[in-house]
Amino acid sequence: MNKSTKVVIYARVSSKEQEKEGYSIPAQLELLRNYAHKNNMQIIKEYEDVETAKCAGRTNFTQMVKFLKASRDCHTILVEKTDRLYRNLPDYVTIDSLPLALHFVKEGSIISPDSHSSEKFMHGIKVLMARQYIQNLGEEVTKGLTQKAKEGYVTGKPPYGYKKLDKKVSIIDEEKSPFVVRAFELYSQGTLSLAKLACQLYEEGFVYKETQPKVYKSQLEKILKCHFYYGMIKFKDCLYNGVHEPLISKETFDLAQLAFRKDNKPKHIVSKNFLFTGMVKCAKCGCNLSGEIKKGKYIYYSCTGGKGECEQQHIYIKEEIIENQILEALSNITITKEQGEWIKAVLKESLKDEHDFTIQQINSLRGRQDKLRDRIDNLYIDKLDGKISEEYWLAKHNQWSNELNIVQENVKTYENANISFMEDCEKILKICNEIKSLYIIGDNSEKRELLNYVLQNLTLEGEKLCYTYKKPFDIFAKGLNRNKKLPRLDSNQQPTG
Ligand SMILES: [Zn+2]
Repeated sequence: MNKSTKVVIYARVSSKEQEKEGYSIPAQLELLRNYAHKNNMQIIKEYEDVETAKCAGRTNFTQMVKFLKASRDCHTILVEKTDRLYRNLPDYVTIDSLPLALHFVKEGSIISPDSHSSEKFMHGIKVLMARQYIQNLGEEVTKGLTQKAKEGYVTGKPPYGYKKLDKKVSIIDEEKSPFVVRAFELYSQGTLSLAKLACQLYEEGFVYKETQPKVYKSQLEKILKCHFYYGMIKFKDCLYNGVHEPLISKETFDLAQLAFRKDNKPKHIVSKNFLFTGMVKCAKCGCNLSGEIKKGKYIYYSCTGGKGECEQQHIYIKEEIIENQILEALSNITITKEQGEWIKAVLKESLKDEHDFTIQQINSLRGRQDKLRDRIDNLYIDKLDGKISEEYWLAKHNQWSNELNIVQENVKTYENANISFMEDCEKILKICNEIKSLYIIGDNSEKRELLNYVLQNLTLEGEKLCYTYKKPFDIFAKGLNRNKKLPRLDSNQQPTG
């Protein structure tokens, strides 16, 4: 008999998923154990994580990676599906850097260092989908908070000068509010700088707080720019009418903002704010490049020479020359319409299970919905016929109507889940095709963030920028597009239609 392969198994649920059917840890473990048994594999360790979507605590995932790195004869992970193993691109990069075989049992795919490039490509797409899923959860949470702001309640702690009456309502803090009122009064006159205002408040006997009687400039600035004090709530760059009692008038607030314009001296540009500082290294010595402004407006980069004298130390390269090469790198990432259709078809096939499950849930909920409607109708006839009392009718009517509402909500949730999958897929394909435009419209910090996702090892030799694509963008950039041909599919992956 063959020696059995040694494997570890990994299962994960988020706290949100736990409430839903079909997402439990035991169900995942059972599936994986059966698979191991059938394939003559020996399970060395089992790892499981239960966590919230945004919380970073994946203790057992980290433990597993540690174990696999150290192990001599165990290089295989069994996991239910792609989105169970990775929550984000860093997870993917961690796993991908190890010489491991990954069995995605429910999806029926095995990824190993010698997998075909088309398999690796599909895997990359699935990883992006899993990441998208986490972002969606994040958006759900934001939606909840926006709703709260729209209703006029502050979403976190109320600002200085207010306190919370209960979970929602903020009331004026009688001890601290006079400080705020006086600060606005003085500053809106437009004659004091923030530093002088802080001194004057202190001299007039206004105490910011017991442990720190004199307020800092930054604390003052935060107060004087806060819309809450004249009755508004700012959330995600939108203003909403608050339900709390204002401390000052809108006029006072506007005057204070005007005073800021007088008070603010033009800021000098710190080198950290240059686009490529800290991102591109000198190819000769490995130092970071630093930027500086020449002739008043052109940005040039050169080696800092931090590791000793370097031949590129006095060579200045214009930002434009670097950026043009970045744009070229980004425009290499494209997926044609035809390729996009193919990807969607394969993904649809691989997620057929989920789709079937959702349809089944919707059908059973619809059945329940019809039954409840019939009951409510019949009840009404019974009432008209005098078979039941008014009280009985009302009690039952309310009970069943409530139930009906809940069922209808659930139907909606499942229906949305069905569409959102294909929407996510479209979104990702779109993002891949629009990376260059996204970069162009972004501000410097957005540009840097985007580049961090897509490119790595940026170095500059003379005017030439060298780089590599990060995973999975390396596959988007070359794999499919190099030959302008679709990768070969296994027969069971062939899309239908
Ligand atoms: Zn150098």
